[in-house]
Amino acid sequence: MRVLKFGGSSLASVQRFAEVAQIVRQLTSIDRICLVLSAPQGVTNTLVELTDIAYLGSDFSPLLQQLHQRYQQLTEDAAQCFPAAQLDQARLVIAHQLTQLQAQLTGVQLLRHCPDHIKAQILGLGEQFSVALMTALLNANQVQTVALDAVTLVKSSGDYLNATADVAASEQTLSQAITGQSAQVYVIAGFVSSNAQGETCLLGRNGSDYSGAIVAASIRASACEIWTDVDGVYSADPRQVKNAKLIDKLSYDEAMELSYFGAKVLHPKTIGPLARYNIPCFIKNTLNPAAPGTCIDNNGEGDALVKGISSLEHLSLITVSGPGLKGVVGMASRVFASMARSQISVSLITQSSSEFSISFCVPQLHLTAAKKALQQEFELELQTGLLRPFSILSDMAIVSLVGDGMRQHRGVAAKFFASLAQARVNVVAIAQDSSERSISAVIEQTACKNAVKVCHENFFSHIPSIDVFLVGCGVVGSELLAQIQRQQAFLHSRQVKVTVYGIANSKVVLLNNDGIDLQHWQQQLSSSSQAFSLATLNQFAQQQHLTNPVLVDCTSSEQVASQYADFLAAGFHVVTPNKKANTASFAYYQKLRLLAQQHRRRFLYETTVGAGLPVIDTLQGLLNAGDELLAFEGILSGSLSYIFGELEAGVSLSDVTQKAKALGFTEPDPRDDLSGMDVARKLLILAREAGMTLELSDVEVESVLPAGFAADVSISDFMAKLPQLDAAFSQRISATKAEGKVLRYIGEIVDGKCKVAIKALAADHPLAKVKDGENALAIHTRYYQPIPFVLRGYGAGAAVTSAGVFSDIMRTLSWQQQVE
Ligand code: ADP
Ligand code: ASP
Ligand code: MG
Repeated sequence: MRVLKFGGSSLASVQRFAEVAQIVRQLTSIDRICLVLSAPQGVTNTLVELTDIAYLGSDFSPLLQQLHQRYQQLTEDAAQCFPAAQLDQARLVIAHQLTQLQAQLTGVQLLRHCPDHIKAQILGLGEQFSVALMTALLNANQVQTVALDAVTLVKSSGDYLNATADVAASEQTLSQAITGQSAQVYVIAGFVSSNAQGETCLLGRNGSDYSGAIVAASIRASACEIWTDVDGVYSADPRQVKNAKLIDKLSYDEAMELSYFGAKVLHPKTIGPLARYNIPCFIKNTLNPAAPGTCIDNNGEGDALVKGISSLEHLSLITVSGPGLKGVVGMASRVFASMARSQISVSLITQSSSEFSISFCVPQLHLTAAKKALQQEFELELQTGLLRPFSILSDMAIVSLVGDGMRQHRGVAAKFFASLAQARVNVVAIAQDSSERSISAVIEQTACKNAVKVCHENFFSHIPSIDVFLVGCGVVGSELLAQIQRQQAFLHSRQVKVTVYGIANSKVVLLNNDGIDLQHWQQQLSSSSQAFSLATLNQFAQQQHLTNPVLVDCTSSEQVASQYADFLAAGFHVVTPNKKANTASFAYYQKLRLLAQQHRRRFLYETTVGAGLPVIDTLQGLLNAGDELLAFEGILSGSLSYIFGELEAGVSLSDVTQKAKALGFTEPDPRDDLSGMDVARKLLILAREAGMTLELSDVEVESVLPAGFAADVSISDFMAKLPQLDAAFSQRISATKAEGKVLRYIGEIVDGKCKVAIKALAADHPLAKVKDGENALAIHTRYYQPIPFVLRGYGAGAAVTSAGVFSDIMRTLSWQQQVE
């Protein structure tokens, strides 16, 4: 005989009852069946609510009426679907239950007290209704079915609400009942049992799985099948982790650890009785009966090192500490005995090696009772100072990795903790089971989903993800989106997932939970009405549990730059070609680096100097290797490189500026380039990179424009006025040419001073040849002298700049790759 247990999710409607009946009917051709049923989905919760309402002295009748209607609806639907079904027994059960509930709840309401033995009788009613209904449906389907009474046949001991199975006693009662009546199918309620005195005892919330196991063990069934709403046990809760993997085989120990640490698919006590009698357990899907499911038995095996990740929430971590713990025999056992006496389950224990403290987790719901029990147990020690006041951390969660294979492999724990660090999770306590098949960390509950997600990514999917939020979709931003779109297939082949979740301009933001369709983002953004703010992005990233969010700022806005600190603190990486943050006050410059370090996030701005040229990274590399910047000289502006090249060729200042603007070589306002401020900012970034403590005001700047020239007018008015300068410029160019020199706009760092100026260079000077938008940087360092380290190439343009930004975005992964 085999045992089939169907959970509440499989009994949510008559349609589901019918599907269950169908599954059972088909199996009867192979084996005799003992069917263990939960209450229809939601009914036990309603019963809990009813007792709570009555306990508070409030009016429970409306909810009782709702329960009545639910039962009636199920019965009426059953009558319609199965006209042959004999539903008298089910109707009798309903009437009986309502009378009982009315009386007991009134008692509870009057007394404002609900003893556990009464609560047990109330909460277990839903399963009994399921049994009556299913028995009728099976019989109507020509399956010879007999209902058994779980309260009298399943024996247990201990707490009324959380009893422990007495398999030996149940063995006798159940086998007698089964041999006493011949049928193809026996139906029995899950969740309920009785103690030696015959009083109703429950097997704990979600305890029908345990019932299934007790019945299977008691009758030595050939298998115990737990039918639910998923295809089997997954590597993580499939509702939480999108690409959780189905596990085909688990050992008893693995299943026990996973369920103990929160995998709801199986009640933690289920495996014990099955393992004892070596009964295989299958997790199957009622909605997809053909799927093979997960097999749990003695063999387990499978080649996965880590089988699954589970999490347990709503916990409090209690720490008992003080000199009285050291070397005193029996203190730990007193701690846990006091918890056991108060029927509080303890889910993780760690003891400091100095024996000065013991920490353990209890359900937060039981914290008050736990504190009370400890206070009573250690009253004396607390008074005399042998124990310190208990320390309590609430809103905690446990994340656990489980797998038999972990025992033979090194590095799993390291990878686990690296993953938690990557998810920016603070680990409060750690425990490993003695057989090394599970490792658990206590963390703050708010971080739990992210922790599970990152661990799963690192241990199972191996596809790291980058979650992009782009602010600013001008030339560079748009090109970046086009590049990301073009590279999707390539990145996919390299096992990296780059998803753009948000695109914002200065006013609105477009967000999409599944990632934005990069082919049509313009239309979508233009029809979005959601205002852009850090709070919006941050809230989105948190709700979606994005673990690697990157803010890409492609604006030149000071206002956006001033928010990087908040973004870093909120867990975003920041990638930008915008120079404003790095050239704001030195204090802000330092703050950004500190925050990035503290929050384990990257702040990357390679394209702020030399666009796509690898300037910053190279310089950082040299400095890390002990080098030192001695001097610098370079053409740092693609726009001015282009403009001065063209001036040399005889084009007027106004014409070349117009042309450069049209080609996208200048900032939207060309004054930003011509004023020299853009170069000054780049120079300052280089100087600060090299360790100099300078402000922007320390950079000496010679503007291309005369002081105050068209400073306060619009861009178009400025462009209209520019021809006024043409004559003076062409004169200057001719005079320089006459001397055999060329004019170049140079940034230099000499003796710790930064200077930006128009310089006349001899024709053979290396920078004299740099034009057409090219950048050239001569970096004189202690290692690179007398010949400097030189970088040359396009230093402007949407394609190279976006590619540089893209490459920075990819570098945010370096953390994850270290974890791999
Ligand atoms: P039932 O009503 O059948 O008892 P439960 O809701 O108690 O069903 O258990 C099934 C649910 O367990 C699934 O829907 C799933 O969300 C959850 N679950 C949690 N962890 C896991 C896991 N590792 N594998 C499969 N399901 C899991
Ligand atoms: N119906 C009970 C509960 O909801 C038992 C179960 O479904 O396993 O806790
Ligand atoms: Mg369940």
